[in-house]
Amino acid sequence: MKKIFILVTGGMGFIGSEVVKKLLNLNYHIINVDKLTYASNKERQKEFKNYKNYQFFKYDITKNNKISWLFKKFKPKYVLNIAAESHVDNSISDPRSFIDTNIIGTYNLLVNTNFLHKNKIKTKFVQISTDEVYGDIANKKFISREGDPYIPSSPYSASKASADHLVRSWSRTYGIKYNITCSVNNFGPFQNKEKFIPVIIDSIFKRKKIPLYGNGKQMRNWIYVKDNADAIIDITFNGKTNETYNIGTNENYSNISLVKKIIKIMVKDFGYDKKIYNLISYVNDRPGHDYKYRLDYKKIRKHLNWKPRLNFENAIKETINWYLLKK
Ligand code: NAD
Repeated sequence: MKKIFILVTGGMGFIGSEVVKKLLNLNYHIINVDKLTYASNKERQKEFKNYKNYQFFKYDITKNNKISWLFKKFKPKYVLNIAAESHVDNSISDPRSFIDTNIIGTYNLLVNTNFLHKNKIKTKFVQISTDEVYGDIANKKFISREGDPYIPSSPYSASKASADHLVRSWSRTYGIKYNITCSVNNFGPFQNKEKFIPVIIDSIFKRKKIPLYGNGKQMRNWIYVKDNADAIIDITFNGKTNETYNIGTNENYSNISLVKKIIKIMVKDFGYDKKIYNLISYVNDRPGHDYKYRLDYKKIRKHLNWKPRLNFENAIKETINWYLLKK
């Protein structure tokens, strides 16, 4: 069988490493390009390097020379751009790396995808984006659909929105094929400790205050990372050309109700004392903090028959167990 090369960027990150693992098990040849920032999970390398169909390159996607060399050498059939600076708080305190990686990095990958396209090599570009590009849903009944205008609020979401605009324009102008995936908040093993669910779990382990921004009523939709990885892979191989797909679930919680849900599980299933409810602590709100994101994900169900598989409570327990092992 002819080797099919898939170039994945950010394949050592939280979502990227889940996608890489699944693709390796499907026998695709994976070229994993990752700069190995603080957010990467270097221990996943031990797992991946046992696969014969795996190659790793510690490259920065903002540096075009090396990226261009990779495209010429492997001529990937699919490019999955999962690399990003991904933490909103960091984008507020220090936005520069978000502009570099999320915008310039995507630009470099598009230029090289276009080089293959001009040389009659069929490559699909899959851009991993976020529900945050649609911006805040002030009207409580509203729900974001593919094609809705982008109204990002933070330097992070603005950089992701810019990258999506570049992808669509490269398709319209130069004819490259693409999909964009906009997913809701992910959780699961290997997520960096700066993110909300790991912060909640870690604070409970250490009996530290659980910080909640503002009044804690901000609404978010949550997906288990393994379900998102399945959706990304399904869209890569079966998504209709040049379509954007929202990836969501029915798990909508305010931040405060999510914290209470996790505390309840820690008490019921992990033997913690009810006193841990007292750890909840309100802190000054994040500047520009969006009140609500919610996605309509009918399109992915209709086109690909995809739906999230994991039960929320079981997925949270699996996640807590993983952090317990890492404690
Ligand atoms: P992450 O921060 O855990 O991982 C990002 C990875 O990209 C890291 O391994 C890092 O080393 C790598 N990277 C960063 N800059 C790079 C560069 N210049 N060159 C090469 N590699 C670089 O991120 P994540 O949570 O796995 O998110 C992955 C993607 O999914 C991002 O594009 C993010 O916007 C999107 N997304 C994430 C969520 C979520 O809840 N985590 C939700 C929706 C969308």
